[in-house]
Amino acid sequence: MAERLSLPKLAAKIPDEVSAYRLLEEMRWGEDRQVCPHCASIGGHYFLKPKNGGRKTRTGAITQRRLWKCRECRKQFTVLVGTIFHRTKIPVRTWLLVLFDMMSAKNGISAREVARKYELSEEAAWFACHRIREAMKRDPLAGLLSGTVIADETWIGGKPRNLKNPKRFAQDHYGNKNKTPVLSLVDRENGEVRSKVIPNVRRNTLRAAIEADVDLPATNLHTDTAMAYTQIGWRAASHETVNHTMSEYVRDGVTTNHAEGFFAQLKRSIDGTHHAVSTEHLPRYLAEFDFRYNTRKLSDTDRMARLLGQVHGRRLTYRPLTGRA
Ligand SMILES: [Zn+2]
Repeated sequence: MAERLSLPKLAAKIPDEVSAYRLLEEMRWGEDRQVCPHCASIGGHYFLKPKNGGRKTRTGAITQRRLWKCRECRKQFTVLVGTIFHRTKIPVRTWLLVLFDMMSAKNGISAREVARKYELSEEAAWFACHRIREAMKRDPLAGLLSGTVIADETWIGGKPRNLKNPKRFAQDHYGNKNKTPVLSLVDRENGEVRSKVIPNVRRNTLRAAIEADVDLPATNLHTDTAMAYTQIGWRAASHETVNHTMSEYVRDGVTTNHAEGFFAQLKRSIDGTHHAVSTEHLPRYLAEFDFRYNTRKLSDTDRMARLLGQVHGRRLTYRPLTGRA
């Protein structure tokens, strides 16, 4: 797909379920490199030709799913097995369109809007969006940030029901209740951002959260002038403090959104698009924001390929396939 992709172009490219399957196969596997989800052998598997234009399911309905048979373990599979799309009732075509929509909408898209636009129930739309957010999460094995790293926190509106003592912690510096603190870390060299929910903004909490993602002895840490950062700064190679860290960073580091701060965009994306995001689900919304931010310089085609490269093993209830793999 060399040409610039857009939602209407994608919709035209996959007019039906078969073409949607084919596109997903192409983007996940490439040319004849199907991966058997049962034994992990790659390529040369047998495509099982559907008879009479489709295949009957147990209920007798005709399905358009494209079925493969492994040349090694002889088991059957589709491109959906083991991915966020596994055992879905939503058409693959709809999944791809929703995924593209979420990925390219500047501030995200609400489940209600997805339900309306793609004729899904609100429940199905909500679940689909969260599955896609699972795929947007960064690789759990991604290394630590180092070099020059900016650490800064903000407060996102939400129901703090999962906090141990919400009355005590769930308020910002101005006493606003029902807020959840979010820490964002930005690698200044490559522009990568990592955002996460933290229970409070105390020194020890911030330190643990920063050390989980930053190689401090190899890092020039930039923070605001808050006292909580002072001792964390001692562990870093060097520590610089400025006022309004993120907005300073965004001004000279990012080509888009010159006029607005990093956190303003984060708030607009989460608070503005989704009402009453609970603390429980906030990490997935942050993953969505970070994914969009971290891939902002990619073309939509490359972004989609990146996302489809992460759909495997990210099911909400996923358990790794045991055995030979
Ligand atoms: Zn196999």
